[in-house]
Amino acid sequence: MYEERFDKRKFDELRPMEAETGIIPNAKGSARFKIGNTEAIAAVYGPEEVKPRHIEKVNKGIIVCKYDMLPFSVPDRARPGMDRRDIEISQVITNALNRAVILEEMPRAMVNVRIYITQADAGTRCASLTAASMACADAGLPMRDLVAAVAAGKIGDSICLDLTKEEEDFHEGGATDVPIALLPSKNEIVLLQLDGKVTREELKKVIEMGKKGAMEIYELEKAALKRRFLNESKS
Ligand code: UDP
Repeated sequence: MYEERFDKRKFDELRPMEAETGIIPNAKGSARFKIGNTEAIAAVYGPEEVKPRHIEKVNKGIIVCKYDMLPFSVPDRARPGMDRRDIEISQVITNALNRAVILEEMPRAMVNVRIYITQADAGTRCASLTAASMACADAGLPMRDLVAAVAAGKIGDSICLDLTKEEEDFHEGGATDVPIALLPSKNEIVLLQLDGKVTREELKKVIEMGKKGAMEIYELEKAALKRRFLNESKS
């Protein structure tokens, strides 16, 4: 049984969040997204010439995305370099961004997205995707929508939003983690993964809760981008 959350949040409550864009002057676009003790920063380069040339697409652009957990982001120093987990996360983030960015408007071009996790307390792939989509918008890429992402899940018998690492590791009854990413204005899910066990009915509730959480994140993302462009037009 999991009746009260370790950090006293309501079961459908997100951790405190911060979002800002334009944090890296030398990148074309950039953003930072923090949710609880998980923080991701993203930098976007391009559209630019495709290298190596043989991966170029004549009709559309390509996104190359790299997720990296910095060594000091976790209590037991993360090993530098890409492991299988980093490769998987880079791939699912790329797949989601491919739906958000209008690649057809960037033929023969390439966009590089670099994501760094400075602090990890679960939900890093979702925080990364949220930051990366804001950075793409900050870079002025043509987009269908921003991506808003958060994990929901089940701890014991309770359906929960935005799990912490402590909750993910909850042993009594086990924890289930479902990262969800949404193009909110299209109500389109662009990432959905499942780690653990849920019934079909529970999964429906988990997805609903995740989508509601994503809508809150979406508002914060839009506000961060508005702030940035208002400041720019003043200066
Ligand atoms: N984690 C860690 N060391 C690692 C990988 C992960 O401490 O080498 C922690 C980190 O807090 C991460 C969490 O485990 O956020 C859950 O990782 P998972 O692979 O489920 O992805 P995430 O929830 O971060 O998207």
